[in-house]
Amino acid sequence: MGAGCLDGMLASPLPALNDAEGAAVPPGLPPVVDAHVHAFPERVFEALWTWFEENGWPIRYKLRAEAVVDFLLGRGIEHLVLLHYAHKPGMARQLNRFVAGFCEGRARVTGLATVMPGEPEAGAILEEAFALGLGGVKLHCHVQCFAPDDAALDEVYRTCARFDRPLVMHAGREPKSPAYKCDPHAICAASRVERVLRRFPDLRLCVPHFGADEYADYRRLLDRHDNLWLDTTMLVAGYFPGDVPWELVTARPDRVMYGTDFPNLPYAWDRELRILVERGLPPDDLARILGGTARDFFRIPSPGG
Ligand SMILES: [Zn+2]
Repeated sequence: MGAGCLDGMLASPLPALNDAEGAAVPPGLPPVVDAHVHAFPERVFEALWTWFEENGWPIRYKLRAEAVVDFLLGRGIEHLVLLHYAHKPGMARQLNRFVAGFCEGRARVTGLATVMPGEPEAGAILEEAFALGLGGVKLHCHVQCFAPDDAALDEVYRTCARFDRPLVMHAGREPKSPAYKCDPHAICAASRVERVLRRFPDLRLCVPHFGADEYADYRRLLDRHDNLWLDTTMLVAGYFPGDVPWELVTARPDRVMYGTDFPNLPYAWDRELRILVERGLPPDDLARILGGTARDFFRIPSPGG
């Protein structure tokens, strides 16, 4: 894969893997935080799954938000970060209230907010969401059709920095699907993300999926910018074509966090967890990737502390 992969990782829908799943988190692991879990109201989930099955991959776990949380916590995941995003203006407030209400009373769940960049009152929408207890923001360049360095984002970046809330932004150009309304390869680039990191040094930014597929560029950005993090979501599964960017994992475990994209998966819920464990990383590095880095980034209190 790489620059030659013009059609993207999702040029056509991918198959389900009928891999075996574990009954629980493997024994003896440090506390595991899943930093990338999705929760939507049921109607939105249904629409999303239809889109995925037509354009992405079959969904193995069609679970509602409550069942998503019960499933993962019940199998030994210590803490979850719930992400969602708005597909059009005027949706964010309702989605944010849904997630905030859902997280109330659930100490082991951190919910993030969303907003449509450039929509009226974008900053106020986020302020309201933070006041409701949401612990950060999620944006998705492909779905929401914006470039990371678009001026419409400035208000979002400023608000996150001012309230010290982290931002998770799907700013890598993959997995690209021809079904998106915009071309992710035209709007997403590591160089655009670097512009943001430079302009907003107080913004803490996580780019999911290792910034696929510009791995070498993101490796350099990690060393140049202390305000950048990456997550592993779906990219250690060996599901997409191309090699797993292990050099990012081993070089900066302090800036890489484990995430899954559960429940929107075509394979076993713990596939990537087992692959990371079997990799034989130094125990301290594994503990950071599986939980420590996400705890720092989202300011999640230690279990029992
Ligand atoms: Zn995701």
